[in-house]
Amino acid sequence: MDSAKRSRVEAWLQYGNELGLGPYFLTRTESAVSSAHASAPPPSTSMNMAAGKSSAKSVAAGAAGSATPPLSTKAGLSLPIISVPSGPTLFEAAERVPGETLEDIRADLGECTRCRLHKARTKLVFGVGNPKAELVFVGEGPGHDEDIQGEPFVGRAGKLLTQMIEAMSLRREDVYICNVVKCRPPENRLPDKDEIAICSPFLLRQLAAIQPKVICCLGACSAQTLLATNQGISRFRGEWFDFRGSKLIATYHPAYLLRNPPAKSEVWKDLQKVMAVLGLQPKKR
Ligand code: URA
Repeated sequence: MDSAKRSRVEAWLQYGNELGLGPYFLTRTESAVSSAHASAPPPSTSMNMAAGKSSAKSVAAGAAGSATPPLSTKAGLSLPIISVPSGPTLFEAAERVPGETLEDIRADLGECTRCRLHKARTKLVFGVGNPKAELVFVGEGPGHDEDIQGEPFVGRAGKLLTQMIEAMSLRREDVYICNVVKCRPPENRLPDKDEIAICSPFLLRQLAAIQPKVICCLGACSAQTLLATNQGISRFRGEWFDFRGSKLIATYHPAYLLRNPPAKSEVWKDLQKVMAVLGLQPKKR
């Protein structure tokens, strides 16, 4: 290569390196790559939140800033290898913080502006109930009344949920109630995929902090989010799943029951399954 061409190539390589692209344009000879990454286990194979999946191993290549030998380009430039810090993967880090409490998670959410839903909200609706509950109900997202009061399930659907809880011989304060998204979607539309992706790690952290015996998903949105499926809820409603040490069951949303009262008998069957697991007798009338 003549020297003019060589300096042009070198300038481009330098530019790429300054942009942090170095590792992608290197001559990846076996020896260079394998020696630089000798300590790295294979990347995690599971990044979804499917029920019952054990958490993936982290991708670790030694602590950041460790003295990894630089790689060389064909042009003779010496480029640093960017070390991947050891510890949980980005996904694991977002979904569980060992030992944290619900208060910690609420504090981390703060006056959240992570997605567009914050723009129209009145109050962020975090969750309510017993932090040591054996049973957690997970809805979709706050509606009008919840947005005003800052508490989940306080509107018409919420009143029906309270009746369902009491029929199980529990009180609202005995269980924990929360939603997939913490801010009201405008016009009560379904939360968008990106809104769910941003907010659901907080739900996962709430569930990890509470460690309930049973999670009862109310409606398709929460069931599909936690089970990482796009199957319709009627395909798996009333079935048990393992979810990170809890048993998970999905049933119809109380708002659906308001529109379709005959479905109440199906929901009652699902709640009876929950009661059997929790050793509860139905409330005497
Ligand atoms: N619907 C939900 O899914 N959640 C609420 O909090 C209220 C209504």
